[in-house]
Amino acid sequence: MLSCGYWDGFFNEAHLKLRPVDFATEGIFLCGLAHSPKMADENISQAKAAAARATTILSKTLLEVSAQVSSVDQDKCISCMTCVRACPYNAPAVNANRKAEINAAKCMGCGICASECPAEAIQLRHFESEQFKAMIDKLLEEYKTTKETADVAK
Ligand code: SF4
Ligand code: SF4
Repeated sequence: MLSCGYWDGFFNEAHLKLRPVDFATEGIFLCGLAHSPKMADENISQAKAAAARATTILSKTLLEVSAQVSSVDQDKCISCMTCVRACPYNAPAVNANRKAEINAAKCMGCGICASECPAEAIQLRHFESEQFKAMIDKLLEEYKTTKETADVAK
């Protein structure tokens, strides 16, 4: 359930400076000796920070998640479970039809699953394959135009 790093028997925070009491998985926080050996006053400060972070979630009646999440085309999925193994946030899981399904609330939009899926069944919203193909085509078109203009000027 937890997606977290370990180092020398202790849990790692998601980011030393930016998310010091967060796990990589959203909504789970850490503090105390599970994180690292430290003095009691530092443990207490860290516990207060973790409680404050948890309050930002518990105080809401409705949680908004990022729109930049991946989703699986159930018709294309071949149930290889590559995405389940590849996701660092444990967002994909097997559904009742034995296909992969991504929990949007856990998805961080990193795109790893979309790049690993052998059946191209996963698309990351706002970064879909067709969008990238259109961008590459435009780039090549502009390169060609620039090169032709440069050749004429010679
Ligand atoms: S990697 Fe692609 S084909 Fe494999 S289980 Fe995930 S969505 Fe399905
Ligand atoms: S986009 Fe990243 S976080 Fe979301 S399901 Fe795929 S691998 Fe996991």
